[in-house]
Amino acid sequence: MIDFADLYERLRQKQKSLSCELQRLKAEEKSADAHREGSPFGKREEGATEAFEWEKRLALENRLTSALAEVEHALKKYEAGSYGICDICGKPIEPARLEALPQANLCLQCKARQAKNARSRPAP
Ligand SMILES: [Zn+2]
Repeated sequence: MIDFADLYERLRQKQKSLSCELQRLKAEEKSADAHREGSPFGKREEGATEAFEWEKRLALENRLTSALAEVEHALKKYEAGSYGICDICGKPIEPARLEALPQANLCLQCKARQAKNARSRPAP
C-alpha cells in the first residue's frame, strides 16, 4: 500500500528545493554577467574558462528545469486525481517505482520503451 500523502509531501519538497536551486543559479548568472561587463578585455584563458563554466551552468539549469517540470507535472496529476497513472498506457505505475521516484509519470515498461527510442539520440 503506497502512502500517497507522503509521496505528495516529498514532491512538494522536491519542487521547493529545485526552484530554490534554479533561482540561485539564475542569480549567479546575473552577477557573472555584471562582472563580465565590467571587464570586456579579459585574458583569453579566462574567457575559455568562463565559457566552460557558462556551459556547465546551462546544462545544470536545463537539468533542473526539466526535473522541476517533471515534479510539477506529477503534482498536477495528483491534484487531478490521476497521480500514479502512466501518461502513455494509463496503467498504474509500479508502487516501488513511485516510492523511489515520486515524480515518475511513466510506468517501467513505457519508460524502457522511451529510453530505447531515445538511444539513437544524445542523452538530454
Ligand atoms: Zn505505461
